[in-house]
Parts: sequence; C-alpha cells; structure tokens
Amino acid sequence: MELLAKLEQQLQGLHDQNLIRKRRSVETACAPRVMVDGRELLAFCSNDYLGLAAHPRLAQAMQQGVELYGTGSGASHLISGHSRAHTLLEQRLAEFLSPHLVQAQALYFCTGYMANLAVLTGLAVGDKDTEIFSEALNHASLIDGGRLARTKVSVYPHADVAALDEMLAASSASTKIVVTDSVFSMDGDLAPLPALLALCEQHDAWLVVDDAHGFGTLGENGRGALEHFGMHSPNLVYVGTLGKAAGVGGAFVAAHRTVVETLIQRARPYIFTTAAPPALAHALQASLDVISGDEGRERRAHLQALVAQLHDSLRLKRWQLLPSQTAIQPIIIGENDETMRLAAALYEQGIWVGGIRPPTVPAGSARLRITLSAAHTADDVRRLADTIQTLERT
Ligand code: PMP
Repeated sequence: MELLAKLEQQLQGLHDQNLIRKRRSVETACAPRVMVDGRELLAFCSNDYLGLAAHPRLAQAMQQGVELYGTGSGASHLISGHSRAHTLLEQRLAEFLSPHLVQAQALYFCTGYMANLAVLTGLAVGDKDTEIFSEALNHASLIDGGRLARTKVSVYPHADVAALDEMLAASSASTKIVVTDSVFSMDGDLAPLPALLALCEQHDAWLVVDDAHGFGTLGENGRGALEHFGMHSPNLVYVGTLGKAAGVGGAFVAAHRTVVETLIQRARPYIFTTAAPPALAHALQASLDVISGDEGRERRAHLQALVAQLHDSLRLKRWQLLPSQTAIQPIIIGENDETMRLAAALYEQGIWVGGIRPPTVPAGSARLRITLSAAHTADDVRRLADTIQTLERT
C-alpha cells in the first residue's frame, strides 16, 4: 500500500539520522532503582524530583480516593465529571498560591500539556488584537498553544529581557501575553522572572509562567518559582504540573478568578475532555501535605545537596555539566550519534540517563539529560559521577 510505504520511508529517514525514539517498559514503580527487561537500573531520568511517585502516604490516599469516588470521573467537568475531590483540590491550590497572586483561583487539568494549550487559547483565541511573546526555549506545549491560539506569536531570544522590552514596546496589540518556562526543561536554568514581571507590569501584559519543573521543588514551602523569587502580581498566570515533583498526575492553572472563569468558559482543552479520575485529585491532597510540610523541606534540601555533590564531583573533569542549579543537569554532547552511544554505554553499566535529540533540543545540541531526585542517595550520585568518568569520547 502506498500510504504505508510513505510512512515507512519517513521512519527510515528518522532511523538514518539516529532520531528513532524507543520506549522501555518499566516493570516496577517510579524510583531510583527500576527493573527493565528483568535487570535493575539506577535511573536518572524521571521528573519525580521529590521522590513522591511511590510514597506510601500518597499511595494510601489514592486507594482511599478510589474507595470514595471510584476509578473514573465519567464525564467532562462541565457536564457531570466535576467531583468534590476536584473542587477541594482547586481550593487548596488557590490557597497555596495565594501569597503570589491577586484573588487567586485554581483550575485542575488532566495534564500540563492541556493546561498550557488552555491558557494560551483561552486568553487569546479569536482575538486578532492579541500578541503572544514566547521565550525561544519554551516547552512544546506552549509552542503548540500559541499555534492553536491563531493569533500573532513572536519569539524572543532565550532570557533576553532587553529584546523582549523592545518587542513589547513595538507591539500595538491591546492584549499582550508573555509566556515562559520557569525552569527550562532541557537546560535546567531559571528564567529571569522578576525582570520579566517588571516588564509585563510596565507594558500592561500578562506573564504566563509554566512552572512544570519548579512547583514542589523551589521555594521554602515548595510553592515553586513565584515563591523562590518572592513575586506577587495581578498580571501573573501560573501553571504548575502535578505529575512531576507532586508525584501523581495532572496540572493546574492558578490566576485571578476572572482569568480562571474565562478558561472554564472558553478553553477547549478544558471543556472537551473527560475530567481526570477524582482519586488523583484526592491523592494530590496528600502530596500537598508532604510538599508544604517539614518532609517536603527536608526533601528539597537533600535534592539541593545532591545537585551540589554532582557539580563537585565533575568539576575540572572531562565531562562538563551546564551551570544549572536545579534537578535538571544536562551534559551537552552535540551530535545525535555520539549522544546515543554515550547513553547506551551508561545503560550497559546499569545507569539510565536520557539522551535528548532534536526536535526536543536545537540541532547540534543533543545531550545527556541527568535528572536528580530526593529519593537518590549520595552513593547513587557518586556511582553516577564515577561511571560518567569512565566514558570515552570518539
Ligand atoms: N511544561 C513543561 C516545561 C514540561 O516539561 C512538561 C512535561 N514534560 C509540560 C509542560 C507538560 O506537562 P505534563 O507532562 O503534565 O503534560
């Protein structure tokens, strides 16, 4: 069949460029040690930054959630799928983020991908007088949200506040939306959020912050990037994901209640999908208890200590980390082939680190992406650093 032949040819093209992605079937819970093909691996590739994905307290809350609410929501939120568990979670999240927002309200989504589509389409769609200013290294979901919004999207260079200032000043749009990752997912660096917010306030623009990798890990209480930088503003629209540090799944938008009401009424990725299982929302209450309590603070401190340890162990060595201070610790390799060869060499020695290639990162900047978790020990990180030192470049 010609249709299949065309797809096969395209797949062959990916093969030839070493861009074929393979899934591995993990036989155990998300943790530093996982079983794959019956073999134990020490994994440094999950986003389970606080080690909550297999936490007994969350597991117990999930079971209780199933007993209370069953396994499925049965409908979309605006029909009959909006459970009390969703309402209580949204109230809790709004309260948690309220030190940083004005008249905070929160909205729970099935995934962060959908939350980002919803924010950009909900705020902008159908309005030709809106311009979105998108950071060059933004996550794919923000790029896709901009496309779906069918409005003008201008990309500003990575972390370049001066360039953004010029672009905002030159824009005649009546609604301006600046959108950025807080922690860049493939580099681990932080966006200059206070400077971006100052610009947004000056130009009467929204600042949409995608804190997928900051929520739970940054800030004294785990409130994320806004707490880390001590930010507070009516211009902020905050997106936090709940499947990474929070250890469960889904995401939320927290913003002024008028923004949230607009999303409920207009955002198609919110309206036209089945609500996430209420048991997830119930389990997330336990996650927030851990994140905001002493245990969360201890886990964040341990994670920071591991980041420092990894940097210390690789200092002045052959393999150089990017200067990231977060749990995301990439080593830039460059070529796709070499990156995948090095990832395979680590895998051979029982260490699982992701090899990241285009289009996830720009061509020529393929990398090993190490992610640390509070569930790792100092010994785990020592073994990682020692094994990296054994790698040879071709
Ligand atoms: N934003 C960023 C920066 C991300 O890294 C991700 C997930 N990789 C998302 C959004 C999407 O979140 P989710 O996985 O919950 O869909």
